[in-house]
Amino acid sequence: MNSKNGKIINTFIFFAAVFFLCFGLFSILNLRHDRSRSGKGDEHWFKGNLHVHTNRADGDSSPQEVINWYLDHGYDFLAITDHDLRFTKQGFRRKWARRILILSGEEITIGERAEQSIHMGAVHTQYAVPADLGKPDKKRLEYFRQQLLAQGSAPAALEASVRGFKILSQLKALIPEIEGQGAIAILNHPAMSLGFPLFMQLEELPPFIELWNPHESKLYANGQQPPDTEIMWDAALSTGKKIYAVTGDDAHHFKKTKNSPPGGVWLWIKAHKLSPEALIAALKRGDSYVSTGIVLKRVEWEKSQKQIVVEVDAKPGRSYSIRFIGKEGAVLQQTDASQAVYPVKGDELYVRVKVIDNTGLKACAQPFFISREAGSAPAQ
Ligand SMILES: [Zn+2]
Ligand SMILES: [Zn+2]
Repeated sequence: MNSKNGKIINTFIFFAAVFFLCFGLFSILNLRHDRSRSGKGDEHWFKGNLHVHTNRADGDSSPQEVINWYLDHGYDFLAITDHDLRFTKQGFRRKWARRILILSGEEITIGERAEQSIHMGAVHTQYAVPADLGKPDKKRLEYFRQQLLAQGSAPAALEASVRGFKILSQLKALIPEIEGQGAIAILNHPAMSLGFPLFMQLEELPPFIELWNPHESKLYANGQQPPDTEIMWDAALSTGKKIYAVTGDDAHHFKKTKNSPPGGVWLWIKAHKLSPEALIAALKRGDSYVSTGIVLKRVEWEKSQKQIVVEVDAKPGRSYSIRFIGKEGAVLQQTDASQAVYPVKGDELYVRVKVIDNTGLKACAQPFFISREAGSAPAQ
C-alpha cells in the first residue's frame, strides 16, 4: 500500500468514525423517547414529576443537581416546587431546555406555618402567587373568636372551625388566582394537609389532588398512618366533584440522607407535544395517569362502542389485574389480564381504571365522568 492510498483510507476511516459517532449520539438522544407510547394520532406519553424540593428551601441539593438527577433517569418534564418560593428555568443553564421541560412551580403554604398547614402545588404559574392572598383579617378573626368563646363555644371545636374558615378563605382566593394564570392547583398530600373530614366538607377543592406521595405517612400527624387518599378521592368523586389525581415524589434528599429520595412514583401525560401549554391542557382533559412502575399503552373511551379500553405494556413474568372502579370505590369489573374492555352502562357517575401487578406495582388513570343526560357519554 503506498502512502497516498494509506492517507485516503485513513481519511475514510476518520470520516466513517465521525459519522458513526454522530449517528450513535443521535440514537442515544432519541432513545429517551422510545418509551413514550404513542397515543392517538401524533400524541405521546411523557413522564414527569410535579413535586420536588431543592436547597433553596429544605432540600439537600441545588436546582442543577436535582434537574440532573431527573435528566439521568429519563424524565421528560419536571416542576421544582420549593416552599413559597417560585422556581423558573430562567437564569439556569440553558442546556436543559432541549432535554427536559422545566415547568415553573412552587408549593404554597396555606394557614400558619406553626400549625398543621396545607400545601398546594402551583405549576406553570406566570408569576409568584401573593403570599397573603385570601388570608382573613387577623383582628376581625380574633374578635369573632373572643365573642364565640364568651358565648360558651367549646375551645377545641372553635379552633377547628377557625382553622376551617381560614383555609376556606385562602382556597377560595388561591384557586382562581392560580387558574387565572393558566396554571394548575394541586392539593398536595391531602391526608396530611386537610385530613378526611375537612377534605369532604370543603366545597372549594383544587381540581387536582396528589394521589400518591411516598412520604405522606412521615408527614401525617402523631406518627399515625394517614387515610388512604384513594378512598378520599372516591368519596369526593361520589359527591359529583370533578377531581383528577396527579402524583409527585416530593423528594428532598438526593445525597446521603435518604429520608425522602426521588423516584418511586410517576405522572404520565398524553399530549401532542412537550410544551407547558400542551401538558397543562392534557392534564385538564384527564389525559394522564399516575404510576409506581406500570406503563399503560392505552386507556381510552371508545365513543362508537361506548366502552373504555385499557392495554398495559406487559412485562415478561408479570401478571396484571385491571379494575374498573365506580361510585364509592365499588369495583364494577375486574379483568385479570393485560388488556380489558369495560362497556359503559350509563348510570355510573364515573368510572376510573386501576391496574396492579403481581409485584405490587400500581397505576391509576383519571376518571371518565359519565353523563346521565347523554345516556353513556363519558366526558373527561
Ligand atoms: Zn408539602
Ligand atoms: Zn413538598
